[in-house]
Amino acid sequence: MEDGFNYDDADWMSKVKRPEEDTRVKTDDVTKTKGSSFGDFSLNCRLLRGVLEAGFSHPSPVQEESIPNILMGNNVLCRAKNGTGKTGAYCIPLLQLVDSNKDYIQALILVPTRELALQTARFLKQISKYMVGLNAMCTTGGTLLRDDILRFRQKKMHLVVATPGRLLDLAEHGHARLGNVSLIVMDEADKLLSEDFVNLIEKILQYTPKRTRKRANNRQLLLYSATFPASISQFVAKHMPHGKDGDVGAEDQSKEEEDSDDGQKTVYLNLMDDLTLRGITQFYAYVREPQKVHCLFTLIKKLEVNQCIIFCRSMNRVELLARKITKLGFSCFYIHSKMTQSDRNRVFHEFREGKQKCRYLICTDLITRGIDVQSVNVVINFDFPKAAETYLHRIGRAGRFGHLAIAINFVTDDDRKSLYQIEDDLETEIKPIPGDVDKIDKALYCH
Ligand code: AMP
Repeated sequence: MEDGFNYDDADWMSKVKRPEEDTRVKTDDVTKTKGSSFGDFSLNCRLLRGVLEAGFSHPSPVQEESIPNILMGNNVLCRAKNGTGKTGAYCIPLLQLVDSNKDYIQALILVPTRELALQTARFLKQISKYMVGLNAMCTTGGTLLRDDILRFRQKKMHLVVATPGRLLDLAEHGHARLGNVSLIVMDEADKLLSEDFVNLIEKILQYTPKRTRKRANNRQLLLYSATFPASISQFVAKHMPHGKDGDVGAEDQSKEEEDSDDGQKTVYLNLMDDLTLRGITQFYAYVREPQKVHCLFTLIKKLEVNQCIIFCRSMNRVELLARKITKLGFSCFYIHSKMTQSDRNRVFHEFREGKQKCRYLICTDLITRGIDVQSVNVVINFDFPKAAETYLHRIGRAGRFGHLAIAINFVTDDDRKSLYQIEDDLETEIKPIPGDVDKIDKALYCH
């Protein structure tokens, strides 16, 4: 018993203080489950309490599939849409498996951006707050290396959330000792295994236990991504037992299990039968460049915006647009990669918390991956992206956890080809926006 809470009470779960239930409409991306409950996973009751207190009453489909597989010691390749509960799908079993009596790092969560690292670490700390003695830390570029070194010296860390460059730095200099790491998550694995990061990842893996024929189970690799490009297949073939190229990305398979001769399995979980989020209705507005600001102004005046993210293609355009919108009387935040990390953190935090009643965030692609702000119901591509992958990650900032939202794309003559290409690649329809914005059905994005 601690803080007056009695885990021995047979009915303790009903006494957990849960947040008010979110009654907004949700799509089957998150509701189509087999009906399991978090109680079914035999979780440590302190962890379970944290999960329930975070407002997770039932596991989402990705959690339902992923949690037992990780707990069983399998390698996991999981293809799931953004915003459907991926973070919980790996954080919950990791916390269950990490032993706080052992004084070394046992689990790593690698992510490609600093914001995502902070967000993930925050979630991890939230659900593990009752797990006394368990130490987790977040380490990313853009902060003082010295501070991280001190933190490693002061406390024995069990779990580390990191961006690859900083972690490698710490490992190379012996500050982060990875020789006993048995669980490695790569969230947004397509990005982590792209040319930008793959060399760093390979180097980090060299500091973790080698997978030997005798001791295959001493290192579990857990890869999560919405898209599975060839770079992932290559990595899987090299590092995960018997992962065959052809298996990854096979759309018609919901689950593929590969038994290796040394006992460890690589399980492929495909939670995606289409690419775009079901709850997001997509529109395009055909505009000329000089009309964009005026159109944006009309849109944000007429739409029922709860919170809105507006994407521009460059840092200059972000700052310019922010100035124009402010002049028009709307308060907005902006964020881009040339800002200092502490400014980035502050802006992101304040937007997420809905501080200063600010509904608009203007940004570059910096924050597209994985970032979760539940109340965003409108995404606007002020500049239309060139690649389907970028498009997918941008619009995925809305419609989190199966909620409804709209995405509006400004398309100029130059963007037409990209629009058709993206529709084709994602097998989705981006409809022309009604001439009268008021005609957009509020039921599509308001609750
Ligand atoms: P993620 O895909 O992990 O970024 O999660 C998207 C959003 O869904 C986050 O705001 C989570 O807090 C929320 N979420 C994830 N899993 C659940 C769950 N089982 N029940 C309720 N909300 C959830």
